[in-house]
Amino acid sequence: MTVTVATLGFPRIGARRELKFALERHWSGQDDTAALHATAATLRGTAWACQRDLGADHIPAGDFSLYDHVLDTSVMLGAVPARYAHPGGPVDLSTYFAMARGATAEVGAGPDGAACCAGAGHTAQEMTKWFDTNYHYMVPELTADTMLALSSTRILDDYREARAQGIAARPVLLGPVTWALLAKGHGVDPLDHLDAAVAIYADVLAQLAALGADWVQIDEPGLVLDLTDAQRDAFTRSYARLAGAGPKLMLATYFGAIGDNLDCALALPVAGLHIDLVRAPEQLESVLAAARPDLLLSLGIIDGRNVWRADLERLLDRLEPVAATRDLILAPSCSLLHTPVDLALETALDPEIAQWLAFAVQKIAELDVLKRALNHGRAAVGDALAASTAAAAARAASPRIHDAAVAARLAAVTPDQARRTSDFAIRQPLQAARLNLPAFPTTTIGSFPQTPGVRHARAQFMRGEIDAAAYEGFLRTETAETVHWQESIGLDVLVHGEFERNDMVQYFGERLSGFAFTRSAWVQSYGSRCVRPPILYGDVARPAPMTVDWWAYAQGLTERPMKGMLTGPVTILNWSFVRDDQPRAVSCRQIALAIRDEVIDLEAAGAKLIQIDEAALREGLPLRRRDWAAYLDWAVESFRLSASGVRDETQIHTHMCYSEFNDILPAIGAMDADVISIETARSQMELLEGFADYRYPNDIGPGVYDIHAPRVPAADEMVALLRLALAHLPAGQIWVNPDCGLKTRKWPEVRPALIALVAAARTLRAAA
Ligand code: GLN
Ligand code: ZN
Repeated sequence: MTVTVATLGFPRIGARRELKFALERHWSGQDDTAALHATAATLRGTAWACQRDLGADHIPAGDFSLYDHVLDTSVMLGAVPARYAHPGGPVDLSTYFAMARGATAEVGAGPDGAACCAGAGHTAQEMTKWFDTNYHYMVPELTADTMLALSSTRILDDYREARAQGIAARPVLLGPVTWALLAKGHGVDPLDHLDAAVAIYADVLAQLAALGADWVQIDEPGLVLDLTDAQRDAFTRSYARLAGAGPKLMLATYFGAIGDNLDCALALPVAGLHIDLVRAPEQLESVLAAARPDLLLSLGIIDGRNVWRADLERLLDRLEPVAATRDLILAPSCSLLHTPVDLALETALDPEIAQWLAFAVQKIAELDVLKRALNHGRAAVGDALAASTAAAAARAASPRIHDAAVAARLAAVTPDQARRTSDFAIRQPLQAARLNLPAFPTTTIGSFPQTPGVRHARAQFMRGEIDAAAYEGFLRTETAETVHWQESIGLDVLVHGEFERNDMVQYFGERLSGFAFTRSAWVQSYGSRCVRPPILYGDVARPAPMTVDWWAYAQGLTERPMKGMLTGPVTILNWSFVRDDQPRAVSCRQIALAIRDEVIDLEAAGAKLIQIDEAALREGLPLRRRDWAAYLDWAVESFRLSASGVRDETQIHTHMCYSEFNDILPAIGAMDADVISIETARSQMELLEGFADYRYPNDIGPGVYDIHAPRVPAADEMVALLRLALAHLPAGQIWVNPDCGLKTRKWPEVRPALIALVAAARTLRAAA
């Protein structure tokens, strides 16, 4: 039996973020379209050559994207919303980027530009998270009037381009059903457009076959979601149509188990099926038991979502019996889009930790070793296997990872440590008496503008151009000015501004043991945006206070209460590459205990209010409903563990920046923060409608200032939003604050907006 290797998809941004810089040059007008396309072609060529040289047999074409693969799919299908005034035919680059990023009136306004957003140009399509990853895609928009038609030759061009380079690539398309499942219908069910989309796919597949494509990879991660019968029927209907289109189809599922959709998936007339055996190792047996003998299985056994080196001998133990009975493809669990490109370029990491890791390039090399071991016997790759085993053993035994004190502390946690001493009903009057705030108290979420000046000073400090004292002096001045300004406009609860923080997770990770940081391990977040998630490799402890000095300095500048400002354990976990050698819940509890120490120290230093941000709590929700309760249990418990070490009169705040959580309101209530601030301005308080069914018990600050746009809202608008909130909540429960932190905004926007916010609160007080 023969084993081959597929990669499913390669990171697009380039090992040195070449795509990001090319996009930015293009958008700023420095580079023309030809220059951008030239960089893109170089990146594709480099990626193909790299995968070929590493021994990959099925190399994808079409996985590259100038912005986002879901947007590429919408463009291929001609699903261009009317506001972009696309005349039909091929979608040009400026329309493509307008869909991705919006366009100002000067740049791309069509005849209806003014009508759509009062002269501001065309707003971008909505963006949201790709399944449970930290990658964001552009949400397809469909209306009853959408007329789908083939509108891009990109996939054909990319296939030809690879061919010209001597690579018979396997084209990859996002499947039509998943595309439709991810779409947002305005007055229409997106599935109503599915048959039209499938007709276009059939056309594209036939053209790919004509060009010589033998196989096409068609990604349907939608098959790992909870599906209705109608949605499963959509798969059945669509693939019946696509089966005869030409190429053999490798249907790729990932991010979880196919589970109850397995009968449906195995009945589809496709030639191959890819399954994720990292997220769902147990599905191998059920798939093997039920799959047709001639169905080519692609086993996702190398983790495409994390950075750990695999234990190859252990994997071979599982793979050998399977490879003895049928041909196999070995692959990463999902596209390598979600991993950094090449560990060899990483210079910041400690060599001991580096030897435990594998990025995209190393993962393909691991697949090649497994392939050779299965095709020619383990002895053929003895050295590589020995190295892998040694690295796994070294990691498992490393004192860098295991801290007996952390384990002992975790084992000794008692349930009452995750509970405040008294109920909110008792805490609230104690806190009110101590803080003596007016009705509708005003505050902000933490950060103030990270100006070019702030970023420049940080960069100078990082490069050693200014010393620690000079940098600290600069930060103190920024902090002091910001504190005094907040006081001068009459905000009630102040913040220090977070100028010393590069990022709300990195700042804490750098001060906790168990986290490593990279210099060049970038992954795409969306479009040109890349992130370098911390690597959580070991037991977490807090060697020393992390924020107390800054809090104390800021509180020393004012009589008004200063909020302590922390990032919560669930958010730190969800925005990091996490350990694969223990459950996420355990890692989360360790972080929670470290944050708890900080909370207690802030209280001891005199902080009367402490905010613990959980911006990413919702992001960690499992893809399947059935798994939600277990996640929410440990996530909420971790938050409570971090928050519950304080006295009744200390007020704990939390913050979440998304508006879709009506479905998890009881869990949010169970966090038992004294005050929660949430994003509601953009959706006009839509979130609060959930409070009709669920009465949120504690105090709440529904955001009244949408900080995602440069626009400055007037006091009247904020008053109107607060009146909407008053329809759902008693006045005594309401705080007045923006949707989120202000770090991405500019001072000329922030100043008038916060002055208006204070005025809005005063209007409500006067009316009360
Ligand atoms: N305290 C953080 C800030 O103000 C919160 C950011 C967030 O929720 N994303 O920037
Ligand atoms: Zn936020």
